[in-house]
Amino acid sequence: MGFSTVAIHAGNEPDSATGAVSVPIYQTSTFAQDALGEHKGYEYARTQNPTRAALEKNIAALEGADFGFAFASGMAATDAVLKLVKAGDHVLLGDNTYGGTYRLFDKVLSRQGIEFDLVDSTDALNVEQGMKPNTKMVFVETPTNPLMSVTDLKAVSEISHAHGAVVVCDNTFMSSYLQRPIEHGVDIVVHSTTKYMNGHSDSVGGFVALNDEKNAEWIGFVQNSIGAILSPFDSFLVLRGTKTLAVRMERHDLNGRAVANFLAEHPAVSEVYYPGLTSHPQHELAKRQQDGFGGMVSFETGSLENAKKVLENVKLLTLAESLGGVESLISHPATMTHAAVPFETRQKLGITDGLVRVSVGIEDAEDLIADLDQALSA
Ligand SMILES: *Cc1c(COP(=O)(O)O)cnc(C)c1O
Repeated sequence: MGFSTVAIHAGNEPDSATGAVSVPIYQTSTFAQDALGEHKGYEYARTQNPTRAALEKNIAALEGADFGFAFASGMAATDAVLKLVKAGDHVLLGDNTYGGTYRLFDKVLSRQGIEFDLVDSTDALNVEQGMKPNTKMVFVETPTNPLMSVTDLKAVSEISHAHGAVVVCDNTFMSSYLQRPIEHGVDIVVHSTTKYMNGHSDSVGGFVALNDEKNAEWIGFVQNSIGAILSPFDSFLVLRGTKTLAVRMERHDLNGRAVANFLAEHPAVSEVYYPGLTSHPQHELAKRQQDGFGGMVSFETGSLENAKKVLENVKLLTLAESLGGVESLISHPATMTHAAVPFETRQKLGITDGLVRVSVGIEDAEDLIADLDQALSA
């Protein structure tokens, strides 16, 4: 079955009790038991909830995974995956991941004895060279936030597996529609469903999808033990969101290309970061690995003053953190999403004070381009 059919039907069976076509929000903390030890598969809502179960089935199917788990946020999902490693283990972390992911490693996991090194995974050889005898996991994000560099998932997976390390990919920027990392050899997929998967900027959530039964059993155990679960209402919202994922992503992709092409021609912009541009260093890899280029575009304005001018003069685009919703957002990575990354590291990565990031929504592309044009010329 095709992606859209799976998106609309997987997990979305009519409700067995009432026939409701839309999976109901099972807003309950517990479930009546028929007799001691006899129940309908649901005992307590941290452990299992029918609305969450429907969503878990849905996104697992979209990622081509046997197992899926929904969490209270993308960070909770990432943290649950990191419970697969223990004190003394080493993790190779992509050097340009989401700022919150870096902060989790740097400030929380390192205190618990988990060792990590940053690696520029855009060259798979760096992953090979970064391997240590105790490396148990390689955690990458592609394309990266906000510089849109692309990692070769197949190459990184082969290298990591040869060293016995499990490979995790944060697939938030692409969504399951534009990229399915498991098809390229990745073991575990993480999402912030807050972004494209829900797509309407009205829910915070996270997801873990994987095939390995033993690891899935542990992630499920962690989900229940720690309890950072997605609520029934949020599960309902994300389930509603994935039904339109294909049509939304196609429009994000079209608009993303249009905005990137416009910016690439603009005299006030010195650099555009978008894998869909032929000038992007990994354009060919992106074409091979992704089913499109998506709606995330970053560009260099040259200085903090110039960036400020754009950010303060846009009228249609909203100045805000986050991404992946139907409405276009504009942000300043150095002071917003990547404020937790030390200044020197930011400079090294190219997250300059003049860098501006746009999450291109699904409005009419001409209106978005006209707004950016007037802000750049202000
Ligand atoms: C937003 C984001 C996260 C964190 O997700 P939350 O839902 O905010 O906890 C992780 N990775 C990427 C790429 C993100 O954009």
